[in-house]
Amino acid sequence: MLRKFSPEKFRSHFPILSKPLRSGKELIFFDNLATTQKPQCVIDKISEFYSTYNSNVHRGMYEFSEMATNGYEQTRTSLASYLCVKDPREIVFVRGTTEAINIVAHGFGRRFLIASDEILIGAVEHHANYLPWQILEREIGIRRRIIPLDENHCIDIGKYEKMFSDRTKLVAIQHINNVVGGVNDIEKLVKIAHKNGAKILIDGASSLASKKINISKLDCDFFACSGHKCFGPMGSGFLFGKYGLLMEMLPYNVGGNMVNTVRFEESIFKMPPDKFEAGTPDVAAVIGFGEAIKFLETVDMPSAQAYLGELTSYLGKKLAQISGITIYGKPAKSGIFSFNLEGIHAHDVATYLGNEGIAVRAGTHCAQPMMQILNVPGTVRISLCPYNTAKEIDIAVAALGACATTFKPKPRLGRN
Ligand code: PMP
Repeated sequence: MLRKFSPEKFRSHFPILSKPLRSGKELIFFDNLATTQKPQCVIDKISEFYSTYNSNVHRGMYEFSEMATNGYEQTRTSLASYLCVKDPREIVFVRGTTEAINIVAHGFGRRFLIASDEILIGAVEHHANYLPWQILEREIGIRRRIIPLDENHCIDIGKYEKMFSDRTKLVAIQHINNVVGGVNDIEKLVKIAHKNGAKILIDGASSLASKKINISKLDCDFFACSGHKCFGPMGSGFLFGKYGLLMEMLPYNVGGNMVNTVRFEESIFKMPPDKFEAGTPDVAAVIGFGEAIKFLETVDMPSAQAYLGELTSYLGKKLAQISGITIYGKPAKSGIFSFNLEGIHAHDVATYLGNEGIAVRAGTHCAQPMMQILNVPGTVRISLCPYNTAKEIDIAVAALGACATTFKPKPRLGRN
């Protein structure tokens, strides 16, 4: 185990971080919420799959297919164990958080919700946790009620508690805000939802990269997560759902691999999780995700989290010294900062940094309602990961300072 977390040792697992850019500059990767970089063991695992036993799962009677099926199902078992989920059948493989939330919205919504039922969602959710509920509102006539925020852009617990009625069937809420980095107290949110007889879905898109989540203790009904945001491959992710609910829910995608019997008249679906895994899955991504979980198991997560907290405080202090900067929200040690430099478009700031080898994100971050609340067209976002360093922060902040004082915006047409 990387005990008493060593940032240097941790960083050394990620080959891309020591590869010079075409410009010769060193990469500083501060866009970790978009996706994290991959450790060598995950890259090797994917390569091993394609070069030695590439085949489909759950259908072949030959050695390779058995190896692929074993690797795929082993990921389910190790993921369940890592998350303290007792029954691996409660883990459904998906391409990412977006697919997981759509499975719940369509599978749970169409099965259990009727007109005038209410679901509570946060005011600053990612579009992935906004649009599926908007569609149900239009199609079924459910009511979406928006939970107000406190001064840190987190769910206002007092106000949340007062919003429940006997029509409230579901709460859908993010764990870590992807624009300003507020961390919701999901344990409390779950308890309050259950006290009021509602189910709760946690959008934990990026939670696993710096936190150990004990789903059995958390006791949420659904948990959605993207593997690519916690060192796994693109195209990997999972939906946790309590088995009783998964049994009752309708499948979202239908097709091969998820049915027992198909007749002209009617068909019988398999039991969960197969019922929700129609078609050929991204087998290499799932097996690679299993390797990412093994990698996470070697990390002393509380120390990694403490290190990320230190980096967050350091970056916060440094950013505050830049002239003309507006920082939105109060980052809760999650390493996520959104800001603007006075008079400079967020895209121009990101391009300036990009030319210096510093990768950040700019725009609305798939969170346009949040931009409405902040009353800005977009922001620049830095999102840190425990492989980042204070030295990288110094370089990025110096570049931002230079941008703030020397950048001359060119006149632009048609951009907000
Ligand atoms: N929810 C949140 C909070 C996110 O940050 C993201 C990714 N930016 C998503 C959902 C969607 O994740 P994915 O694109 O991996 O499906």
